Amino acid sequence: MRTRLALLLAAAGLLLAFTLATQLVIQDRQQELRHDLLRRYDPAIVATTDLRAAVVDQDTSVRAYGLTGDPGFLDVYTAGRETTITTLARLDELLAGDEQVEPDLALVGAAVDDWHAAAVAPVLDAGSDAERAAVRTDAFEQEGLRLLETVRSAVGDVEGHLVATRAALADDLESTARRARWAMFMQAGGVVVAGVVVAAALARVVLGPLDRLGRDARRVADGDLDHEVRGTGSPDLARLGTDVDAMRVRILGELAHLNAATADLERQAAELARSNADLEQFAYVASHDLQEPLRKVSGFCQLLQKRYGGQLDERADEYIRYAVDGAKRMQDLINDLLAFSRLGRTTAAFAPVDLQAVVDDVVRVLDDAIAGAGAEVTVGDLPVVQGDRRLLGAAFQNLIGNALKFRSEDAPIVGVSASLDGSTDDGEWIVTVSDNGIGIDPDYGDQIFVIFKRLHGRTEYPGTGIGLALVKKIVEYHGGRVWLDPTPDTGSTFKLALPPSPTAGDATHAG
Ligand code: ADP
Repeated sequence: MRTRLALLLAAAGLLLAFTLATQLVIQDRQQELRHDLLRRYDPAIVATTDLRAAVVDQDTSVRAYGLTGDPGFLDVYTAGRETTITTLARLDELLAGDEQVEPDLALVGAAVDDWHAAAVAPVLDAGSDAERAAVRTDAFEQEGLRLLETVRSAVGDVEGHLVATRAALADDLESTARRARWAMFMQAGGVVVAGVVVAAALARVVLGPLDRLGRDARRVADGDLDHEVRGTGSPDLARLGTDVDAMRVRILGELAHLNAATADLERQAAELARSNADLEQFAYVASHDLQEPLRKVSGFCQLLQKRYGGQLDERADEYIRYAVDGAKRMQDLINDLLAFSRLGRTTAAFAPVDLQAVVDDVVRVLDDAIAGAGAEVTVGDLPVVQGDRRLLGAAFQNLIGNALKFRSEDAPIVGVSASLDGSTDDGEWIVTVSDNGIGIDPDYGDQIFVIFKRLHGRTEYPGTGIGLALVKKIVEYHGGRVWLDPTPDTGSTFKLALPPSPTAGDATHAG
């Protein structure tokens, strides 16, 4: 495009330069003609008239002097003589270089000299009236008239030539002026034509293709991704169009890819949700339906123990005890499982829950266990969060219950506290539940939240392995997270991140 534009501008510039040069040449010629006319030939014509008059003045005054001898006539003669000499010199100067008139001018000079020598000088040289009378014979007069005529005709020749040259110069000047006018028109026309050509070429080579490219690109930008972008005009604009179209095709490909991936993801999410729902439904139905026969097994085993305990041998008593224990454990498992699978089915709307009151209630419920273990439970300032009071209570009961259950030899010290996490924009509440019990290997930090996962045998510490899974499910149900803090040296520390209640602000309660 740059080359094309440069060529275009160069052509326009050349055209302008040509017309300008023509104009200059014509003006130069005009100047020259005007100079010749006004400064050479016009003054020369005037000078020939002066010359003729000066010669006539001399002739008349010399003749009068010859007749009268009055020296007063000699003044007119002297003035005429001087004028003749200076005029001839001036004519020589003005017409220098005009080869046609120079010989004629020389003839004039010669004729004047001849006339002066033969017809004027003898009269002036004569000393007395008698001598003058002797000089002025008829033949002398005749010769004087002839020579004067020669001078007149020589001057006439020069004058004729000058007048003709002047007329030719005037004609030339006129036609040159005409040519100058034409050149000016041509120049103006050239400027207009160059402007039109440049504008048209710009529109064709640059603006038009750019406009089309812009329209195509805007259509694509407005969402019509299938609209092809085509570059036209100069090769670089065409290349630009091809590049933009390649970009469009690339985006189209990526979009198709993305759409496919999104559809895939949505399908998987729907599948996952369905299988999750199926699983929860299954767990619920299974635990619910298992309860009835299990109650029967457990009831009859207890009845067997009560009625026939001590009547059979010792081994039989032991077997019955195992059966009763197993049935009871199974009942606990099924109850916990039922509670777990029920979670999230409730449609009760969340409300602001005062965690302080919740934990106080839990401490009250666990009062016996706390007293039995000789434990000390410290509850700090706890916030109000948005949620389900009953479920949050269950979560804290599990955590505090575990802290009491997995105690070491020392009396349990359990702490519950909260702080606002300033690192995130939402400002989550971080609730910490810590104890000084047997602790948890950080390597099992994730596994302990898996349902039925236990790190100890049932004989060491009772339990079903559902507690922490339930806590995790409850916290996540509230839009939060729970994790095991791997840092403490003694005991275990659990952290719960809970979103703040939108209505409660970030105030905590004194506790
Ligand atoms: P359960 O208490 O019924 O065994 P949980 O899901 O509550 O099941 O806990 C899973 C396992 O995590 C427990 O068996 C125990 O090994 C470990 N654990 C939980 N809480 C604590 C704690 N506070 N201190 C030490 N270990 C714990």
